[in-house]
Amino acid sequence: MSQADIGLIGLAVMGQNLVLNMSDHGYRVAVYNRSPEKTRHFIEGPADNRTISGCYSLEELVASLKAPRKVMLMIRAGSAVDQLIEQLTPLLEPGDIIIDGGNSRFTDTNRRVKAVADSGLRFLGCGISGGEEGARHGPSIMPGGDVSAWPEVREIFQSIAAKVDGQPCCQWVGEAGAGHYVKMVHNGIEYGDMQLISEAFHLMQRGLGLEVEPMQQVFADWNKGVLDSYLVEITAEILQQRDTDGLPLIDKILDSAGQKGTGKWTGISALDLGIPLTLIGEAVFARCLSALKEQRLRAEEIYATERIIFRGDAIQAVSDLHDALYASKIISYAQGYMLMQEAAREYGWNLSYGDIALMWRGGCIIRSRFLGNIKDAFDNDAALENLLLDEFFITAIKQCLPGWRKTVARGIELGLPLPALSSALAFFDGYRCGRLPANMLQAQRDYFGAHTYERIDRPRGERFHTDWSGQGGDTPSTSYDV
Ligand code: NAP
Repeated sequence: MSQADIGLIGLAVMGQNLVLNMSDHGYRVAVYNRSPEKTRHFIEGPADNRTISGCYSLEELVASLKAPRKVMLMIRAGSAVDQLIEQLTPLLEPGDIIIDGGNSRFTDTNRRVKAVADSGLRFLGCGISGGEEGARHGPSIMPGGDVSAWPEVREIFQSIAAKVDGQPCCQWVGEAGAGHYVKMVHNGIEYGDMQLISEAFHLMQRGLGLEVEPMQQVFADWNKGVLDSYLVEITAEILQQRDTDGLPLIDKILDSAGQKGTGKWTGISALDLGIPLTLIGEAVFARCLSALKEQRLRAEEIYATERIIFRGDAIQAVSDLHDALYASKIISYAQGYMLMQEAAREYGWNLSYGDIALMWRGGCIIRSRFLGNIKDAFDNDAALENLLLDEFFITAIKQCLPGWRKTVARGIELGLPLPALSSALAFFDGYRCGRLPANMLQAQRDYFGAHTYERIDRPRGERFHTDWSGQGGDTPSTSYDV
């Protein structure tokens, strides 16, 4: 067989499907997996009769590639990636390219881009979304790292990526760990979308008393309008699924959520950069709270109260819930974009926010019609400061606001937790509030720590300190902070 266009290491679910996708698009692929039986199984099974060659050592893999060699890692994120870079480096030649397609932390990618460049090689960190189906038929790919390597892989990646209106959901993101950063925010937004949908389900089932069939219909209907998205679509399908006894499977699934860390990383980055990413934060904490199953069961007994029965108009309540979900989703994406804008400033990345929306519109888990509106907003104004200041979203939020407030109030009255829906509303009320109680915070900080404050009747930057108790001095603090 002639030399391969690309080598791929890691034949788990993502790797195998990406290889088959590349093969469908006419690329010759050489594959390697740490455990050789998986390579054999793949070559003799799904890869049979294709231009895919199985390799049983890294040397064999590298020797089978066209120069400049492109080796893509689809393996578990973390130290395994460092180990493989170490093993591959002596086998490769200057200018060859290592691509990490796993869910690596962007700070690791920052470090690896530099270290690999120091060895004369080139490194790309590519976020890939879409799960098994996306990998097989068209994922969203978010490449970043050494920009000189991008033209070498662009054709392969854009061919295998999902397409929306003929455009590939794969565009250059930026230097260093920018690709993995954008993928991390994508995953954070995914946590938020999933939590919002789950809260809507909870309110309908436990609050409004809807059975699964009408709920399934509600999600299917929502999927035909502004909420049209992969996650709403699969929620309707999940509600259709029956267990072997004919009862809804959803009611048999333990309510304790897992997580792999990308939502948490997004929250940590938001805290580091000082961005109020409240909805994704709540979504991560909601999973943490769900994991306390035993304690929750005990607390339910201790704090048991008479169940409040909803006696209002369920059709109106569902319509309000639709508006609450849509408005909260806008807030979540606005916050996600605020985070990416701050990260771009902090790390010196030139992110194209419209392209990011385009990449997320197809192939990935958060794909939705709504991302087209975000793309339009950044196409209209590439320097848009905040999605909440775009005309389309201003109109949408204003229309949704009454139903959103009623939904959050309903959850509070019924004693049902709506952390993402309600924190989104709290954020919005804060964002649109010209005067927040931070004057009180500043006074308290100055009272106990002489941290000084600015005044509304004096220019910004001029600092004042008051001897609040009559027992303090007039020396302000310069270093102590809380
Ligand atoms: P995975 O379960 O995350 O990883 C399994 C693969 O990693 C196997 O091929 C395994 O080889 C290899 N591996 C683990 N430690 C290794 C080491 N020290 N040296 C060499 N190989 C090692 O597989 P996955 O779900 O297909 O995901 C691959 C990557 O894509 C991950 O970073 C994941 O986070 C990311 N991702 C996954 C999804 C998804 O839906 N699953 C979606 C997007 C991104 P052995 O067979 O020898 O154990």
